[in-house]
Amino acid sequence: MALAPNVYDAEPIPEAARAEIDRLLSSGDLFRYTSPDASPVALLEAEFAKMMGARYALAVASCSAALFLSLKALDLPRGANVLIPAFTFAAVPSAVVHADCTPVLVEVGDNYRVDMADFETKLAGDVQAVLISHMRGHTSDMDAILRLADAKGIPVIEDAAHSLGTRWQGRNIGTLGRVGCFSFQSYKLLNAGEGGILITDDPDLIARAVIMSGAYEHNWKKHPVLHDHFGRWQNRLPLYNTRLSNLSAAIIRPQLAEIPRRVADGRRNHDYVAAILNGSPWLDVPPPLPPEDRAPDSIQFNLIGLTEAETRAFAQAAETRGVKVQVFGLSEDNARAFWNWKFLGNIPDLPRTREMLMKACDTRLPARLGKADLDFIATSLVAAAEDVMGAPRAYGT
Ligand SMILES: *Cc1c(COP(=O)(O)O)cnc(C)c1O
Repeated sequence: MALAPNVYDAEPIPEAARAEIDRLLSSGDLFRYTSPDASPVALLEAEFAKMMGARYALAVASCSAALFLSLKALDLPRGANVLIPAFTFAAVPSAVVHADCTPVLVEVGDNYRVDMADFETKLAGDVQAVLISHMRGHTSDMDAILRLADAKGIPVIEDAAHSLGTRWQGRNIGTLGRVGCFSFQSYKLLNAGEGGILITDDPDLIARAVIMSGAYEHNWKKHPVLHDHFGRWQNRLPLYNTRLSNLSAAIIRPQLAEIPRRVADGRRNHDYVAAILNGSPWLDVPPPLPPEDRAPDSIQFNLIGLTEAETRAFAQAAETRGVKVQVFGLSEDNARAFWNWKFLGNIPDLPRTREMLMKACDTRLPARLGKADLDFIATSLVAAAEDVMGAPRAYGT
């Protein structure tokens, strides 16, 4: 019998990182602002911005820090209401709270994307910004979101932590809104253990974010951005010191060249497994929206017509067969289930999102898996559904 694939290990870091890390270890030059010119962090920022087609980039300690700084850099009034999807990672509402703003949760449909009717209703209220999480790399209708936010004159932040390599209408995700934020945490496309980066074309936003990230005194002069935008902020902004270390940048830079392969392989793997799952009457992988080219490293699918007990039995059957499935709404204390965000105080009732979370399954599907691994995962999931629901009836016989 085939062995269950290991879906947890990351890819090795490219060999090229070693020489640079050795050089940094011998010189002790780990802080981005020590050297007078191009530090590894500054080089990463320049390369990332160029690759994405953005004017400016700022590397920081995490995507959460990038989201927090983006909100701060927008200079929103204290307590400002910020729309966020109700299906996201707990770090996202946390970043909003950290920035002294109030998250307003928007319903998410059973295709894992923002429910546009609820978005329009809530946008009509007292809202000062929109933060869209492209959760698990699923892109909501960005044309409609940007048009509606534009019409109201409020900025859109993209949480593209898990969406690097995704395109919408052929454009890079993270370049659609006023600012885009990415993660270098180990489960994302680029792995430095921890880290994040924000990109924007807005010179004033980047100037404010650079200072607040911890470019104290005149360290902002080491950023290749429009320097006339810094003078007026000197000494007027808090320094939150959430910078990236040169070591992390040295680990990320050689991975940039790997992105096209990781994206292509991830999409191929996902679509191959999705086609098999969609052959089961009990499993449904919602299709992407037409303008979307995805870059998945996991697969989400809904269970069709299963009770809660059957859903639990399915997850157990899949595990017995060697494939770990997480049902977002059923695994205890799941950080992606909005009712667990008790730090928000009042949590609204969001029936559509709740219903989706109770049937939506999550399985890792790293880009490095081969066809035998994919067949193992896909056939185990289909068989697990049959373990619980019985073999599908063969109609017409
Ligand atoms: C991972 C993730 C984050 C948080 O990223 P960190 O770098 O760990 O702060 C935020 N949003 C989404 C959608 C994520 O997947």
